Parts: sequence; C-alpha cells; structure tokens
Amino acid sequence: MRPLNVIIIGAGLSGLACGIRLAAEGCRVKILEKNSFAGGSLGTFEVNGFQFNTGAEIITAPFLFDQLFECAGKHRIDSIKFLEVDPIFQAIFPSRNRFSFYKNPNETIQLNGLFSDADLIGFKNFSEASSSIFDEVFFDYCGSPVDETTFSLRSNLWFRRLNAQQSCQEFADKFFRSPELKQFFGFWPLLGGGNPRQESHLFRLVSQLFQRWGAAVPEGGMENLVNAIVSLFSASGGEILFNTEVSEIQIFNKTVSGVRLKDGGILQADLVISAADTAATYRNLIDIDRNRYNVVESAKQRPAGFSLFVYHIGTRCVLQERQELTPFNILFPENYDQFLDELFEQKVVSANPLMFLRMPSKTEALKTPEGTEALSLIVPVPNLESYDGWRYDSYAYRNRLLNLLQQYFVTDIRSNLIAESFFDPLAFQNRLGCYAGSVFSFQPTLQKSGEIRMANRSKDIRNLYLIGNGAHPGASMVGALLGAANTVELIKSDFADER
Ligand SMILES: Cc1cc2nc3c(=O)[nH]c(=O)nc-3n(C[C@H](O)[C@H](O)[C@H](O)COP(=O)(O)OP(=O)(O)OC[C@H]3O[C@@H](n4cnc5c(N)ncnc54)[C@H](O)[C@@H]3O)c2cc1C
Repeated sequence: MRPLNVIIIGAGLSGLACGIRLAAEGCRVKILEKNSFAGGSLGTFEVNGFQFNTGAEIITAPFLFDQLFECAGKHRIDSIKFLEVDPIFQAIFPSRNRFSFYKNPNETIQLNGLFSDADLIGFKNFSEASSSIFDEVFFDYCGSPVDETTFSLRSNLWFRRLNAQQSCQEFADKFFRSPELKQFFGFWPLLGGGNPRQESHLFRLVSQLFQRWGAAVPEGGMENLVNAIVSLFSASGGEILFNTEVSEIQIFNKTVSGVRLKDGGILQADLVISAADTAATYRNLIDIDRNRYNVVESAKQRPAGFSLFVYHIGTRCVLQERQELTPFNILFPENYDQFLDELFEQKVVSANPLMFLRMPSKTEALKTPEGTEALSLIVPVPNLESYDGWRYDSYAYRNRLLNLLQQYFVTDIRSNLIAESFFDPLAFQNRLGCYAGSVFSFQPTLQKSGEIRMANRSKDIRNLYLIGNGAHPGASMVGALLGAANTVELIKSDFADER
C-alpha cells in the first residue's frame, strides 16, 4: 500500500486506534476533533476533589489494547495499568435479592444464594450454549473485516443457523425459572443501546466476554488511558487538530476527496474515515442535494438508539451499606417490563427506570477524598427525537433519581451531598456530536441484510469508511478497537494494488 493521506473525523477511541494502526502502515494520518480534548466518551473529570469517569469505565478483553500498543512497537503495561474488578456486576432487585456475576462461573454458582436446582442447571446450560458459539461470533464476525457482501452471506447462512432473530430475552427465558435471573441474563443489549425483548440473542455473548477476560478499570481513570493512547498516536507520527469540526465530507463522482471544516477550510485526503457517530455522519456531513446515496437513505430509516442520563455524586461520609455494594451494580426497577415499554415503545422518560450504579470509590482507580464516597448513576432514557425537554427538566430528573437511590440506602444521601454533576441527552449530543443524543448510535437491530450495525466501508461512496458505535461491530471499547482493526484491513486490501 502506498503512504496514503488519511483524514479521521473524531479523536475518540475508534479514531485514535485506527490512526495508530494506519500510521504503523506508513500512512500520513490527521485526526480532526471538534472538542479541545481527545477521548470522546472516555474521560475523567474532577468536582470538589472527587474524580469521575465521564463515560465508559469497564474494560474487558484487555488483549485488544495490548495489540494496539504492540502494533506501534510498545508494551501497554509500560504506559497504563488495568486493575481487575470481580465480581463484575451485582444485580440488585426490588425484593432486595442480589445476584453477583463473577468471571469464574463456579464462583457465580458458589457465591450466590439465588439459584434453585433448576436455575443452577439453567446457568450451566446458558454458559455452555454461549461458550460454544462465542469464538465464531467474536472472532469470525465481530473481529473480521466485513462488507456488504459478507453481511448478506452471513445473513443467509450463519445467522439463520444460529437463529439470530430470536431475542435475547426470549433466549434467557428458556434457561431460567426465577424472574430475577431471567431479567439479568436477558438484559445484555441494554449495555449497547438495544432492547432486550427485540435485539438478537447474540448479545448474550457479552456475558462470555466477561467470563473469558474479566473486567478491569484503568489506574488513575479513563483519562490516563486516553493520554497513553494519544501519546502512542503522536509517537507514531500522527497529528490531532483540536477545535476542528468537520461540517461536510466532500464527494465528487461518488468518491471522497476530503473534508470541509466548520470554519470554511478545506482539507484533501486519499480517504476519509468517520469515527464520529455514523448516524450523524450520514445525516449531517453528506451533501445530498448534489447526489442521492442509498446508504444515506438507509441510515435515515434506522431507528436511533436510546440516550443516557448520567448523574455523578460525592458524599461527605462513607455509605453505611458500602460492604454490600460492588463497583458495578445494576438496580432493577419494581416493574422492569413497564420500564422497557416506556423506553422502547412509548419513548417516555421513566419515573422508575433501571439504573446502573457505579462506585468509583470502590475500585481505587480514581481519587476520592478520605472518608467519602463517589457514586455514578447511569440511566437509559429516550433520545431527543422523542423527548427534548431536558433544558427545563434535568434538575427535576436529578431529584427523582436521588429519591429513587435513597430507597436503597440507609445513609441520607441528599443531606450528605458535597459534589455533583450530571450529563443529560442534550449534553451528549453537544459534547460527542451524536445524533439525537443517541450515545450508542443506531438501535442495534438485526437487519434483513445481515447487518446489526452499518458496514465499515461505505456502500456507495468510494473511499469513505466508518468506525465507532454505529458501524460494525458496534458500541463499547471492544467494538471501537475491533472496528478500527477491521477497517484498516479493509483499507489495506482496497489499496493493495495502488502504487
Ligand atoms: C455513559 C457511558 C458509559 C459507557 N460505559 C462503557 C463501559 O463501561 N465499557 C465500554 O466498553 N463501553 C462503554 N461505553 C461505550 C463506549 O464509551 C463507546 O462505545 C466508545 O468509547 C466509543 O468510542 P468512539 O471513538 O467510537 O466514539 P466517541 O467516543 O463518541 O468519539 C467520537 C469523537 O468524534 C468527535 N466528533 C464528532 N463529530 C465530529 C465532527 N463533525 N468533527 C470533528 N469531530 C467530531 C467527538 O467530539 C468525539 O471526540 C459507555 C458510553 C457512555 C456514554
């Protein structure tokens, strides 16, 4: 491959990982980032002495980070350490029953009191059924460069064989008797913007990811990981232009020639990779007055996924119930079905939502003042297409969440509050540039074509590639790293014959 001039839109994990890999192939890579900082949804900030991660916190499959460093001739461990977390999740139900999910299935069995004999067999069978197809789905589908042809082949042969249309919830229902375990083992699509009752049961393989490679957090917070990756990119010869927003991908004769910036400047490139939200890329960055593109039409028809309300809290005391909590807790609501109906069918903000409760002060990865506690609540809410009243309602929702949280604690959270900050869907839209504040991009629904996300090589715009949440294989840090690696393989094969 000749040394290509590459422009990447967005300095989140996807853009940085792709940039590092292309620089290692001898390309001249420029990343254009609209914000003054790198990392996108990965970052760490401080309020009143408390550190919180802005977005992602849980790392799995650390070998993917190791591979990224290795391709730039470095060892990840020399730049950033990962601290293991186990149990990985604790589910807390309205009955106050708890279920902890460990890396080792034997520990999950031994250390939980929730299993009946039938559920014990169900858990073993569920794990076995997931383990037996994991390699095929993870390495052959998620970890391979796929294009539209591969997608349709998969749909005809492979997805049909795996009965991929069956929903994650239906699949879990077959294995468990306890309604609480059914909820926990069906909930996986919620981690990537999907509906447990609608999205493919293949999402259950997220449980296998954790059973294979466990969970970890970066020492010193996500910002440390981002800094390590930015340094790696710069050392590889790549360049990041901050405060540089792309307003249009320039296309002539259905072939990309470069980008136009918000300030009017034009930059030329052999190819452009959008590591910004795929939905926003197709909807906002392509001039459809000049040409009609089927791929843009199909992107517009895909439903946008849900958004999040994230509320960070610092308390002046240690919680009395600290011992009973783990770093990552999932608080299931009184009426889980109603919550799913509200989020996916009625598309209204739920008064009794499912809440992810992270406790940064339990991981020792982040700084928390002595004798205090840090909590982050992450709540799925409809995207801005369905509800955009956050300008007025965010504070009221923050109050609602405090009240809900209080139901789980003896400690009076409200009167011990000494630090707080929240991000609503408007903040996600403005900060990350994601369409309608859909933090995981499109709803990850299996299409007839065999795609769950959109192809990494644009279907009808030459030399345009897409990575990140809305593109194959989808949201999460694992998705970002795999998508970047797959796309570089596609580019290498597309430009292999050019001298
Ligand atoms: C609250 C939250 C919690 C999460 N928790 C986890 C977790 O625990 N584990 C996990 O694996 N994943 C988690 N995720 C998902 C994970 O963070 C993302 O899937 C991943 O970081 C996406 O990276 P990305 O680079 O594709 O996109 P982003 O991080 O969104 O980066 C896109 C970048 O593009 C820039 N950009 C956008 N438009 C333009 C433009 N026009 N011009 C220039 N720049 C532009 C943005 O500013 C941004 O920097 C979480 C996400 C959120 C929001």
